Amino acid sequence: MLRGSDVQLDNQGVRTTCPSCGTTNRLRYQTLGRSAQCAKCHAALPQPAAPVDVPDAPAFDAATSTSSIPVVVDFWAPWCGPCRMMAPQLATAAQRLAGKALVAKVNTEDNPDLAQRFRVQSEGVSCPRDSRSKTFQRRPPLFPNAGQNARLHRI
Ligand SMILES: [Zn+2]
Repeated sequence: MLRGSDVQLDNQGVRTTCPSCGTTNRLRYQTLGRSAQCAKCHAALPQPAAPVDVPDAPAFDAATSTSSIPVVVDFWAPWCGPCRMMAPQLATAAQRLAGKALVAKVNTEDNPDLAQRFRVQSEGVSCPRDSRSKTFQRRPPLFPNAGQNARLHRI
């Protein structure tokens, strides 16, 4: 299973390290969810199974508009206690959804432009209202300008 540090988003896909030979490969957004092979050693590449950090707005836009599988986005902030409390559940969800959905994390401190675009202005918006709830609350898509796969799940 891939862990966060092994996986990065860029403008074209998810950069991931081959578990067999260590070569960096890119799983293109358009083919996420399909079986993939390492370009060098042809070992099977696992699908992202951990929340991946969104580095910037272009990567966010590429992922949400071109991904072949739904993108689950968590807006969070390092200083937000409830965000950190929910992190293990997000990780579990990412593991369960591997190959079926891409779980992405937007650090609103690093990406104030994205936070502003989706009007995530305070932790009260981006964080769970009920921290006792064990379930993900599905909300309607909040990305009018992004692809139809984009969904914002508030947790
Ligand atoms: Zn390899």
